[in-house]
Amino acid sequence: MILGVDLGTTNSTVGYFNEDHWELIPNEYNEFLTPSVVCIENNGEYIVGKIAKEKIITSPKNTFYNFKRTMGTDRRYSCNGKDYSSEELSAILLRYLICQAERYLNQKVDEIIVTVPAYFDDKQRIATKNAGRLTNVKIERLINEPSAAALAYHHKNGNDGYYMIFDFGGGTLDISIVDVFMNVIDVQSITGDNNLGGVDIDNMIVDHFIKQFPNLRSINKDELSRLRSIAEQTKIKLSDVDEYELVFVYKNDIYRFKYDIQTLANICKDVLLRIKELITRVLKDAQIDTIDLTAIIGIGGSSKMLMIKQYLEMITHKPFIIDIDPQNAVAIGATIATAIKTRNNTVKNIILTDVCPFSLGVGIINDEYSVIIAKNSSLPCSQTSLYTTIQDDQSKIKFVIYQGDDYQASMNKELARIIINVPPLPKGEANVSLKFSYDINGILNVEAVSEIAQRNKTIITNNMLDEETIDKKRKELDQLINNTFYYPEANYLLERAKVMYQDVPINVREHLGHAIIQFERVLNNGKATTILRNCKSFSKYLDYIALSDFHVTIYDDYDDNYEDSSDDEDDKLLS
Ligand code: ADP
Ligand code: MG
Repeated sequence: MILGVDLGTTNSTVGYFNEDHWELIPNEYNEFLTPSVVCIENNGEYIVGKIAKEKIITSPKNTFYNFKRTMGTDRRYSCNGKDYSSEELSAILLRYLICQAERYLNQKVDEIIVTVPAYFDDKQRIATKNAGRLTNVKIERLINEPSAAALAYHHKNGNDGYYMIFDFGGGTLDISIVDVFMNVIDVQSITGDNNLGGVDIDNMIVDHFIKQFPNLRSINKDELSRLRSIAEQTKIKLSDVDEYELVFVYKNDIYRFKYDIQTLANICKDVLLRIKELITRVLKDAQIDTIDLTAIIGIGGSSKMLMIKQYLEMITHKPFIIDIDPQNAVAIGATIATAIKTRNNTVKNIILTDVCPFSLGVGIINDEYSVIIAKNSSLPCSQTSLYTTIQDDQSKIKFVIYQGDDYQASMNKELARIIINVPPLPKGEANVSLKFSYDINGILNVEAVSEIAQRNKTIITNNMLDEETIDKKRKELDQLINNTFYYPEANYLLERAKVMYQDVPINVREHLGHAIIQFERVLNNGKATTILRNCKSFSKYLDYIALSDFHVTIYDDYDDNYEDSSDDEDDKLLS
């Protein structure tokens, strides 16, 4: 079983291809969107998704969100004396999503295809892949989010044309131009901003609101989180109504301000200008004009903003279409990508070609940038350049590898440094060839060969964590996660039973205590269907105790329904 995963900054969604059609997989709350939030409880347990999102307000120190924004950086999130990287937090989130899917499908997941913002650079992509490697399933493919969305759009409509895929999520903006012809989806150019999304708009509303009321300048972090959440609601309301009043109660005072789209557009002027700049660039890179565009396809939650639709239609004079729920489109596309990978008949004729979002090259003398692979080259691609010594008897050549499009080498993102030994020769006679290969996932590999000393061959396998480190970290996660993700309701019941135990009369305690131990045993050793069945009976049992006012005879009733067996043949999961 292979899953398509939209691992979003704000929300994540998974799906699978069921014979001849895609299906999204609901989480335990029967919702497709799972908030990308991880809370680490004091006892070391993880809570993910909807409940974790509530913890942003009640337990802000232990709760992490927006960590996709720091993928591939050294940023660490501390909690209970432990440090977590974005990769690790993403791995916890991925594991939760996989568990939810396994439970829903009652099948083991073997592999995932994960989407990434098209504008993710090498380090961010590697970090995402590392997150995938920290789960227990295979991850071979990453796919660009707007390309996935294009797949979803094509699958639904199949219309040819030049489309601008405008993917505006919670934390990132990706824009790509896609040429759809027959069954070929050809990405022409990509641009974006990894630090521009709905949260920035929320923050701008918060700043604006606080400016109106100087009393609010000193509010603490928790109050600020609360205000941000009300600001987000205001923004979302303004996608449906013309005017909405933000009301914030603080220290018994009520603060109010009426917002409409025009006010919002004024507040977000910088965001709109940045969008315009990026649109100009992506069109220029694809060598087309707005007039050539068929339509703009809105993807990502922030595309639902009326302000965005109006603004884009005003500057391009093209229709802004939201055809598929913009928060599901990427996951649907990822799911279609799984079908393409497994050569499913339904999609076997579809071809998706993608491009690299940044140029790649090395710094040479005077900080000049020697580009080896130009941005928007089709993937996968491979290019070789030859470099030579600039001094007599030079014994090595040092290369700094960059990703980016600034003419000054050091202004780009440094990916790696390598030093290659060369034989002592007059200047200009010792050569090193650099072969850059950009794989289909947008991850770079570099091979350096000293031409004369053929054996001097270096292969850079970038910042992938080595298998040993991955294994160690994976085991740590295995220990902590166990059944908590598979059976969140079981943990909820266990908590409920433990609290109840404190309240019941002594004579009931004995029965309840026994029942708790038995339930824990099933949870630790049992199989999926057994656990789920026992959850039901245990829940009934607890309800019975509560409703019967802690009556003591209830245990018999419980005993009749309670199934302790754990060897169901039909149970494939976890076996
Ligand atoms: P991501 O891809 O970053 O996980 P999503 O595509 O789920 O994000 O979009 C989340 C963002 O969309 C949030 O900033 C949220 O406030 C915003 N959003 C969701 N619904 C609406 C709406 N109806 N109007 C405006 N913004 C919305
Ligand atoms: Mg998204």
